[in-house]
Amino acid sequence: MYDKNNIFAKILRGEIPCDKIYEDKFALAFKDINPQAKIHVLVIPKGAYVDMNDFAANAKSDEIEGLIRALGKVADILGVSTTGYRYLGNNGRDGGQEVPHLHFHIFGGEKLGRMIHK
Ligand code: 5GP
Repeated sequence: MYDKNNIFAKILRGEIPCDKIYEDKFALAFKDINPQAKIHVLVIPKGAYVDMNDFAANAKSDEIEGLIRALGKVADILGVSTTGYRYLGNNGRDGGQEVPHLHFHIFGGEKLGRMIHK
């Protein structure tokens, strides 16, 4: 069940400010408030989807395409397309997802560490 009062829903409604990197019909990208790398940006769909399972099952094709294309555009805008970057999605409890609106993290601007920490 989607919580309309999660922090990213508030950002999408303009109730909370964000440091915007990119926006189109399907996606919004903004800097993470607590960056874990030199570049740390969040890319979220505009639709109300809790996580990847919800998105994969319920999003329309244009929303899915829009989010993926936005990820590529954001990497271009950030200048990491050629240097490389990591995109990451925390999903659900074991995945460590804190905000219940689907989001991808994009990390870059430096050599990143191991793929996974426990
Ligand atoms: P998760 O752990 O759910 O994958 O990541 C949530 C991310 O959202 C965290 O990296 C956290 O720093 C970021 N975040 C939480 N609240 C805000 C906020 O109000 N503004 C921005 N820009 N990022 C936020």
